[in-house]
Amino acid sequence: MATMIHTIIQRLQAPLFLLMIVSLIGGIQLASRSVADETDKTETSQTNNSKSESVEAKTKGELKPIIKTKKDWEKLLTKEQYYVTRRAGTERAFTGEYWDNKKDGTYHCVCCDLPLFDSKTKYASGTGWPSFWDPFKKNYISKHEDRSFFSVRTEVRCKRCDAHLGHVFDDGPEPTGLRYCINSVALSFEKRTKRSAQNKKE
Ligand SMILES: [Zn+2]
Repeated sequence: MATMIHTIIQRLQAPLFLLMIVSLIGGIQLASRSVADETDKTETSQTNNSKSESVEAKTKGELKPIIKTKKDWEKLLTKEQYYVTRRAGTERAFTGEYWDNKKDGTYHCVCCDLPLFDSKTKYASGTGWPSFWDPFKKNYISKHEDRSFFSVRTEVRCKRCDAHLGHVFDDGPEPTGLRYCINSVALSFEKRTKRSAQNKKE
């Protein structure tokens, strides 16, 4: 009799044991799935963060260079924009759109839209080209020695896409004493709105 009960218990225990193992594995799977879900969520939020970081990176000066072929630039720009920015040309004085522009806002690179100058540093130089005594950010501009036209001048280019912008001279007003003499056609103007001012603060 005792042996019979023992056998029954053994028979019962086997499925019970199996059931326990199955539920244990199920539990582990569930647990790992929720961990995976968490990881997914973290990754998504990291992606979102990196998007806003890339905008911030712009203002921190970590510029990723923009390199395009001659053909791509030609498609993107008008003939005059191409001639000035990609061939280091110069527009005729007093002919550009912005030499006398007194509106409040920012001037961007016409090729890659990087903000290059602020109207707060613009002044009437009398030259017929938009003139600024300081760039929007020093590291948004690169300077190069230019020995063309039998003189030594300092050429300024957009740091991100290498667009020729104009030249910088040391006969500007205080506080820097610099005159960034820039071709209108190398720039696009963005009027300051409450929103753009807010973005800049952030
Ligand atoms: Zn540019």
